[in-house]
Amino acid sequence: MRWILLLLLCLGLPARADLDYQLTPRQIAEDTWLLEGSTDNFARGNGGNIVNSAFIVTDSGVVVIDSGPSKRYGEALRQAIAATTGQPVVELLLTHHHPDHVLGNQAFGDVPIGALAATGELLREQGEAMAENLYRLVGDWMRGTEVVLPNRVLEPGMLEVGGHRLRLLGLSGHTGADLAIFDETTGVLFAGDLVFHDRALTTPNSPGLEVWLKDLDTLQALPWKQVVPGHGPVASDDRPFAQMRDYLGWLDGLMRDGAARGDDMAEMIRRPIPERFAGISLTRYELIRSVSHLYPRYERKQMTRIDQR
Ligand SMILES: [Zn+2]
Repeated sequence: MRWILLLLLCLGLPARADLDYQLTPRQIAEDTWLLEGSTDNFARGNGGNIVNSAFIVTDSGVVVIDSGPSKRYGEALRQAIAATTGQPVVELLLTHHHPDHVLGNQAFGDVPIGALAATGELLREQGEAMAENLYRLVGDWMRGTEVVLPNRVLEPGMLEVGGHRLRLLGLSGHTGADLAIFDETTGVLFAGDLVFHDRALTTPNSPGLEVWLKDLDTLQALPWKQVVPGHGPVASDDRPFAQMRDYLGWLDGLMRDGAARGDDMAEMIRRPIPERFAGISLTRYELIRSVSHLYPRYERKQMTRIDQR
């Protein structure tokens, strides 16, 4: 019996040497490479690789966008870049402070790590707790991972690197500090987590869904040819934007109506999810989380209105 258990353990838990992200960069535009993660939740099976990271090979070196969920991922990303181009990495840009996007920073200690000022603040405040949570969720993949703060403050505006004109946009709908990067040279828009595609959006730090919708207007109006979401497949049409608007509108309406009726959280998290969202991964899981993050605000607004009568 004991050997069966042992065998099962060995089969179920990859040995540490097998913890290989197998990152395979895929070229999506001239000079532009994507590492597409799973649309599942954090799990021991995926090592937290649920995120899209990318890099742009410019004439004066490689610009990397987001460093992934762990030190191990960051190192694998460096190897994948080195296997793709002889150009050195010259800069890492962080779209926002969430752990799946920044905990690979340790592998980029030799280059400037740029982020919006508020992203640095948020990571300083929340980084340790978020990293601890990932240790719990994905285990050994995280070994040795520590929070490394950005060391270069990015201002919204133009950043020119080796012939690529990168327009940096300072937005806020997902976390309060969200950097989107529009490469005017290739037409690729790196939307960070302002755009989720075929994967339910997450709301732990969102200042409000109406703010998020405004950011989507800003992004969609850019003359992009391809949009790289923070999670989910790249698109060259408006589909991710339409899906985001539909889903955000539904979520907002659901909580507004619930608050107006006086429903409690336990009822809200059981609400049916429309059939049209069936193709979006993790809708029930994220509905439960979003209701816990956001519903108290809707309830407070409702009470204010009553008090003002
Ligand atoms: Zn995020």
